[in-house]
Amino acid sequence: MKFIADSMLGRLARWLRLLGCDTLYFHSIEDSLLLRTAREENRILLTRDTRLVKRRGVKEFLLLHENGPFEQLKKVLDAFNIHPIEQPGEGGGARPVIYSRCSLCNTPLEDTSREQAKPHVPEYVYQTSEKFKHCPECGKYYWRGTHPEKLKRKLHEL
Ligand SMILES: [Zn+2]
Repeated sequence: MKFIADSMLGRLARWLRLLGCDTLYFHSIEDSLLLRTAREENRILLTRDTRLVKRRGVKEFLLLHENGPFEQLKKVLDAFNIHPIEQPGEGGGARPVIYSRCSLCNTPLEDTSREQAKPHVPEYVYQTSEKFKHCPECGKYYWRGTHPEKLKRKLHEL
C-alpha cells in the first residue's frame, strides 16, 4: 500500500514514513501533477482538500478533516487497517516496519555499521546505540531512539 500526501500534510507524511509506509510528499506540487503521480504509481491520495477529490480520475483517496498530524495518522492507520511492526518477519506479510524508511525523503533505509555511523551521529548516541541505519539517498542516519519515546507513546495512544 502506497500513499501520496498533499502539500498540507507534511507532518503526517513524516510519521507515516517513520512507521515504514511508502508515502510521497512534496512541499509544493501542482494539483494535476499530484493526481497524475497518484494514478501512475498507484498511490492512495491523502488530502484535506475536498475540491481535489472531486476531480476527474481520482479513484483511491482518503479525505482528512482532522487538524492534528496524530489524529490524521490514526485515521489513516484505521482506514487501511495498518499495524506497523518493530522487526521484519514479526507477524510477516507486507506490514510496514518501523524505522525502515527515511522520514525526509521516503527512501528505504539500509543497515550500516556502528563504525560507519560514528562520524555522523552524536557521541552519546554512538556509545549507547547498537544498530544504525542510513538513507542512501539523502545521507541521514537513524538509530533506535531517533524519536522513540514520542513515537511509542503516540502509537500506544492510537
Ligand atoms: Zn533520506
